[in-house]
Amino acid sequence: MPLIVQKYGGSSVADAERIKKVAQRIVATRKQGYDVCVVVSAMGDTTDELLDLAAQVSPMPPPRELDMLLTAGERISMALLAMAIANLGMEARSFTGSQAGVITDSRHGRAQIIDVTPGRIREALAAGHIAIVAGFQGVAQDTKDVTTLGRGGSDTTAVALAVALGAEVCEIYTDVDGVFTADPRIVPTARQIPRISYEEMLEMAAAGAKILHLRCVEYARRFKMPIHVRSSFSTKPGTWIVDIPPEEQMEAPIISGVAHERGEAKITVVGVPDKPGEAAQIFQVIADAGINVDMIVQNVSSTATGRTDITFTLPTSDLPTAMAALSKAKDRIGFEGLLSDDQIGKVSLIGAGMRTQPGVTAKFLTALADAGINVEMISTSQIRISVVIREDDLPAAVAALHRAFELDDPEGQAVVYGGTGR
Ligand code: ADP
Ligand code: ASP
Ligand code: MG
Repeated sequence: MPLIVQKYGGSSVADAERIKKVAQRIVATRKQGYDVCVVVSAMGDTTDELLDLAAQVSPMPPPRELDMLLTAGERISMALLAMAIANLGMEARSFTGSQAGVITDSRHGRAQIIDVTPGRIREALAAGHIAIVAGFQGVAQDTKDVTTLGRGGSDTTAVALAVALGAEVCEIYTDVDGVFTADPRIVPTARQIPRISYEEMLEMAAAGAKILHLRCVEYARRFKMPIHVRSSFSTKPGTWIVDIPPEEQMEAPIISGVAHERGEAKITVVGVPDKPGEAAQIFQVIADAGINVDMIVQNVSSTATGRTDITFTLPTSDLPTAMAALSKAKDRIGFEGLLSDDQIGKVSLIGAGMRTQPGVTAKFLTALADAGINVEMISTSQIRISVVIREDDLPAAVAALHRAFELDDPEGQAVVYGGTGR
């Protein structure tokens, strides 16, 4: 039988009623003649609630124990979903990430999948059962400890299993009808995108559009696994993320969308001696702490002092670790001080057509200027422009860019079916 992997996000399994609805949908897919492997997220905002709980017992919980705690969320939903399916008269078997053969490295909280050995899932499917797998978790190859893949990681579990099992498609069920030209929670006139290339979706995800986990898109692109993002609250067709050949891309719109990111902070390293090797030492300290930086800006050094400032952005959750690591290295590297700011936001415009279209940057900056929004940092790729602004300005910036690039759907009222947007 052909196989479909279906992933249901937190809002799709937020309560008992939703779990029963999802069970019906899975059973219906099975009855259409497909083997079904399901990946589930934790119910509703469970992961955030568990994180809040951890913060109440310790300001810096040991990463191993935090992973042990967070993986419990997905275990709850997988077992409840299996019960709901059994109640509909079908056999379902739930598996933790470890049981499903999701093998990772041992970086707790941000583990990468290094192998998928889904022997038990294959056996369950061969026996005619529906397999249900806890998303966002795996087991470390070396330490054998339970790991998590980072927030939103269930999408990646789903694509990894779809590839390993040779699925026809990986369906990602969520609380909106697909991928839109902007987050429909902020721009109700956003348009649904029927089809988008892996490349553009990668840039959208990297720029903060949390509809899909970045690594899930990378994984799907590498193995050419089609992704269908759709709502578990409706039966409408969603958005297909596929390989689009260059000749067809020419006909695609120049701009595919606007994305925003709230979860970043910036650090300025003040008074860095302007000589070879200084920036390398700073970013080595950050790399050794296992932190990925995003944008980097270095000022022109003043001739009087021979010193310069370097500013970079990073995930807010890594800010304390980065500040501590840099402070420790201050005397060795020889910079004068450190400043940090966690009230920043990033807004990006994405479109493959930008490569060949002049004037996009000017129009982008004019739209922000007209909305009275100050730009603090700028970075670009061939198909993306991103700027750092004040976090409070994000909604206005997203709306202004969406309008300026004529992405608004005049009749559109994008539906957000559930979720709290947390
Ligand atoms: P799930 O719990 O199903 O994984 P997420 O909350 O991770 O759902 O992702 C779905 C949310 O992504 C939507 O509710 C929406 O607010 C947000 N989102 C951000 N950018 C976009 C976009 N471009 N298109 C659609 N949704 C987006
Ligand atoms: N439950 C995890 C989270 O909230 C993983 C996921 O939903 O994809 O980040
Ligand atoms: Mg998600």
